[in-house]
Order: sequence, then C-alpha cells, then structure tokens
Amino acid sequence: MAQPDRLPSSYSHDGGARSAPAGAARGEGVPLQTKSDGVGGSAGAQPPGDMSERAAASEPRERSGDHGVPASERVGASAGAQPPGLEFVRPYVVSWNLTYRCNLACEHCYLDAGGTPLVGTESFADRSELGTDECFRVIDEIAAFAPECLTILTGGEPLLRRDILEIVRRAAERELWVVVGTNGVRITENLSRRLAEAGARGLSLSLDALDPDRHDRFRKVRGAWRNTVEGAEILDRTGLPFIVQTTAGSHNLGELEAIADFAHDRLAARVWNLYFLVPTGRGQFVSDVTPAQYDEVLASLYRIQRKYDGRMLVNAKCAPHYIKTMLENGLPPARTYSGGAGGCPAGTHYMGIRPNGDVTPCPYLPVFAGTLRSASLADLWTSSELFTGIRRRTQLGGRCGACEMNGHCGGCRARAYGMTGDLMAEDPLCTHTPGTFAASPLLTRVGAPEARPAESERGYGVPASDGDGGSGGAKPPGLTIEYGPESPTTIAWDDAAAARMKKIPAFVRGMVVRAVEESCRKSGLDLVTVEELDRIRSRMPTPKMFG
Ligand code: SF4
Ligand code: SF4
Repeated sequence: MAQPDRLPSSYSHDGGARSAPAGAARGEGVPLQTKSDGVGGSAGAQPPGDMSERAAASEPRERSGDHGVPASERVGASAGAQPPGLEFVRPYVVSWNLTYRCNLACEHCYLDAGGTPLVGTESFADRSELGTDECFRVIDEIAAFAPECLTILTGGEPLLRRDILEIVRRAAERELWVVVGTNGVRITENLSRRLAEAGARGLSLSLDALDPDRHDRFRKVRGAWRNTVEGAEILDRTGLPFIVQTTAGSHNLGELEAIADFAHDRLAARVWNLYFLVPTGRGQFVSDVTPAQYDEVLASLYRIQRKYDGRMLVNAKCAPHYIKTMLENGLPPARTYSGGAGGCPAGTHYMGIRPNGDVTPCPYLPVFAGTLRSASLADLWTSSELFTGIRRRTQLGGRCGACEMNGHCGGCRARAYGMTGDLMAEDPLCTHTPGTFAASPLLTRVGAPEARPAESERGYGVPASDGDGGSGGAKPPGLTIEYGPESPTTIAWDDAAAARMKKIPAFVRGMVVRAVEESCRKSGLDLVTVEELDRIRSRMPTPKMFG
C-alpha cells in the first residue's frame, strides 16, 4: 500500500503530464487474489532477515551535486543551528514500510512496491526485509526512544507478511500506538478481529475514485475497488476504526467531493485524508497535476472541510502550504509549533523506516541517515547530518527560504527532492510569493489554549500541522503544540480520567492535558473526571476517533 496508504502524485516543472513508462502498466488486468482469513500471501516467504552489517549510511550530499541532503555550508554547526530547547527529542510518528511485496501495483507508489521494480536508483536497490526478530528489536528500540509513539505499519501491503500479527502484538505490548496502513483488499472479519486482538488501534484504506474501473486501473488490479469497499464495510461491522485515504491526481480531480461524500455516507468513515502525490518512487513517473490545479484542489478541500465540519475529519496530507489557503480565507494558523516545526513534519517529529531498516525523515524521501541493521535509531534521529540538517528551516532554498510562513509550512521536502534533487530546495508546487502575508496579523495571532481534541485524537496520521488542516483547522487559533517531554499535570485526575487520557497518542497528550486542565480551571474544578472529559468532548466540533 505504499502511497497513501501513505500516499501521494507527481508533477513536472512545466506542469505538463508525463506518461508513465511502458512497464508501469504491468499487472493490469491481473485477477485479484481471493480473500482468505490468513495473513501472509503466497509470496509471503520472508526473505533472509539477519542483522548483518551492510553499507553504511548515505554520504551527505552537496547542493551542487546530484544528491540533495543539505550541503555542508548550509548545515554547519553555527549556521541555522537548531533553536535552543529539546523540541525534537524524539519522533512522535514512525511510518514503517515492512515489505516491498504488494497485491496491487499502484501507479504512484513511492516505494515502488509490488511487481517488478521500475526505479533503478541506488536508494531502491536493496529490497530485503527485516526478519521477525529484527522487527522485534526495532520495535523495542522505538519503544525505548519514543515511548507510545504512533507507529504506522505499512508497505507494500503489510498484511502480506506472515508475521504481521506478531509484529502488531509486539508493538502493542511495548505500548506503541500501532496502526496498519493497508490497501484493504485482504481484510476479512476474522483478520479484522485478529488485528484488533493483537493490539492494532486502527487501519487506513485507500480509495482513489468512485468509478471502480478507474480505481482499478490506477491500482493496476481488477477488483481492487470492490475489495477495498468491502474491507471498509467489514471494519465498520467489526468495530475496528479506519480512515479513508485518497490521492489527488488527474484520475479524480473532478470528483474529490463526491469521494468524500462516499466515504462519509456509504463507508461511514470518520476521517478522510486527501494526499498529494510526491514524485518519488513510481510517483516520479506520474506527472499529472500542475501547481495551479494543486491550488484548486486545496480550495475545494477547504470547502469540503466546511461541509463536513463536526461530522467527518477532513485532512490535507503532505500539503504543508495548505496554510496559504487558510490565510487566503482569512483564517489564522490553527496551531503554533515549538521550534518552528509546523507544516512538513519530516525529521522534526516524523521518521520513516524502509523494509531493510534504512531510516529516513519521511517515507517519501529516498534519502537515508543510516540503517537500523548497524546503527541505533536514537543516534540517527539525534546526531545524523540528514536529520539535524532537515530541521533547519532557515537553510531552506529559494522561496521556501525567503518565506514568512516557513515555520508553519516548510514546503514538502520529499517533493523538492523528487523534482530538483535537493531536499532543501523550494517546494516547486507552491505558488506562494514570499512576503504576501508578511504583515498579516493572522500569522502572529496565537490564542490561549482551548480544550479541543488534538487532531490525532480524532484521526491518526502524521502529526497535526497547519498543512494537515483537519476540519478543526478552520477554528480560531488555540493550540500551541510543543514537541518534547509531556507536561506534568497541575490538577488532580481521577483514575478513570487518567486512564482515558492514556488512549490519546503520547505526542499530543501533553497538549490535551494542558487544554483540559485549563478548561477545568475556568470552570472552577480542582479534579478532572470522566464526566468532565465527556462534557468537554461534547463541545468538540468533530467526531471522536479514539479515546
Ligand atoms: S514558499 Fe515554501 S514555505 Fe512558503 S508557503 Fe510555499 S511551500 Fe510553504
Ligand atoms: S516531506 Fe513532509 S510534506 Fe512531504 S511527504 Fe514527507 S512529511 Fe509530507
């Protein structure tokens, strides 16, 4: 399920469409595999997964070269040094591509998963997978360094791994907040229950068109649409939370609102995420949306958010410059972020892991800090030049470097890399002229914390950002998101209320705790109870996803 299933499309600099290579059509017309209740497909034999040493991390790249990691002159110790504080002490979301195997062969897959590989570059050369014991060790590392981290297990199609239930269970046992990103094709009632029993908190499913044939052509397997819709219906029946994800592209630009309607009315989805294709992996061959069309999609997304406000959470994913659409509509950023980490979360609170253990700031970004087969996750996050460099928004190039909104946006680093070869370059799909909002009071307005649920309480995914703007994103400002240690409680909580709070992902819990306590103080309460949480919740504009 790579690409939304975490998930986006691609573009050329001139906005013109590029045709996919002939090989991209592989798999078309392949009959869909019949569902079974087991996990692990026929292709499911795990490749050797020993923790042997392998090539060291990618060398840092120079801007003038053919790489893209920040050039040394831009990431030197003094230039653009990370702000003081511990804002980026750990990732809050880890997206882990467990396998390259897939039962679909989607045109836009950033991982180039399923079928015969099309991307021949070095960063896609090693398609080995960590074995079960290696995965357990990685889970333990994540849990030790980033406790209760939202951990997205995806692929390829993660349900093709025979050990997926063991991996989910291990992650849940280590108190990671584990969700599974799947194309939904293999979901059965039995599998849904087994995933829930193993500790999965939810699933994400991909739907790219209302017309089954069009969806199937995009996904390259006949019957995919029907199976995904059936998968959603099964999840609804069995009570395992799910979100619906759609990738915007020429195949569906005219029907995005209708897809949102379908997700809400027919699939009973509580969250609909709209992704934007990133031109990496196979996405580089699918160049079909221009910057102007991108703006139109963001404008329509804004309308869809208003339409579903309070009924279904609607998010723009991997569209950090959605903040521009908000400002154009007279809305301030819904949140502010410590360390200027708003918008693109790559490397500030987000980390990706490839099937072979390679670590990247974002799954769409085929640039690696090192491998978990020979390096520690904590070291790569804390000390690698890739991770420390990508956090330096002051070192961004082009318009992103000059932009008054780069602390709220930062542009898509993977898109910059995919289209220019320089991950610190400006985001080529943004139409913003820096300075346009420089004098806008909307950019500096920060309200007092409100008792509002965090986005990730309502729908899992990449941490909330202004660019991710859920339907709560159009509300007045109020959330100050501080990445770092959880804040201690300042009011007594009864046991039931404290237990309820544990259901909220750790990376937003501190923020929610502060907001709840502020609300209680305003109400003259000195004890947080479940009843008070329910009262606060009833005032929230969007449906609850978890907790
Ligand atoms: S110029 Fe860059 S930082 Fe500014 S809004 Fe556009 S993508 Fe975001
Ligand atoms: S680089 Fe940032 S905006 Fe782009 S896909 Fe990754 S996390 Fe999303």
